[in-house]
Amino acid sequence: MQIVDHRLKPGWYKPSPNVGGALNRPTLLVMHFTAGGGSGPKGVADYFLRPEAKASAHVVVGRDGGVLQVVPFNVKAWHAGRSVWRGQSNCNDFSIGIEIDNWGRLTRTADGLVRSWTNAVVDPGKAAELTHKNETSRSLWETYNETQLQAVVQVTRAILAAYPSITEIVGHDDIAPGRKTDPGPAFPMGRFVALVEGRGDRAPITRRVTASRLNARGGAGLDFEVLGVFTQGTQVEVIYDSPGPWAQVKGRLSDGAEVTAWVADQYLA
Ligand SMILES: [Zn+2]
Repeated sequence: MQIVDHRLKPGWYKPSPNVGGALNRPTLLVMHFTAGGGSGPKGVADYFLRPEAKASAHVVVGRDGGVLQVVPFNVKAWHAGRSVWRGQSNCNDFSIGIEIDNWGRLTRTADGLVRSWTNAVVDPGKAAELTHKNETSRSLWETYNETQLQAVVQVTRAILAAYPSITEIVGHDDIAPGRKTDPGPAFPMGRFVALVEGRGDRAPITRRVTASRLNARGGAGLDFEVLGVFTQGTQVEVIYDSPGPWAQVKGRLSDGAEVTAWVADQYLA
């Protein structure tokens, strides 16, 4: 993937009417989640093409890893809103914005299901209980899948190569704290930056189960169903070690089934 004439090539492109003037010498890259459940051209990218949306970003990355561009990189997109970074306000004037399809905060409703802010039912295996850096208590958040993360990495590499004036990558929640929570605690910012810089392509991290029987759960929290147990000494591959007490791992259960599940990370060595 590369950028030619301020457009991703190869790539899907439709121009959004929700744009400002010329974007010269961007210095910041801002990461967002869409807070939407759709994906692809019928999702948020389509929304950004409508004038009444009064919003846009340069690109949208779907849950399937699809990359849709709706604003050329030399034009200001309307993604940051009221915002400040390092004393400079109106971040749209000096930043490129990437939207990632993700619900953001989820809630467990009285019926035991995990739901989005629109009340859509979400697979509990895609939820993690985490504390946002600008908050003090835990919430459920949709996780970002690996295909999607790798697509964001490829787009970001292309942007940084084409616009060496960009010196920082931040979240919308860094430039509009209190008002915005995206991309949120489920976005692995540290690992993402390492992958972008080519430092993250390491061998998978494996850890050993130290508890005699460790519950493998469908989500990050005691409320999630137990899918089975990992017995002591089992080697599991760590997919995502969250900032909280839960880690997403892949491994073989006592019954022989290979699963991706969440475990309490204090029982991994
Ligand atoms: Zn945002």
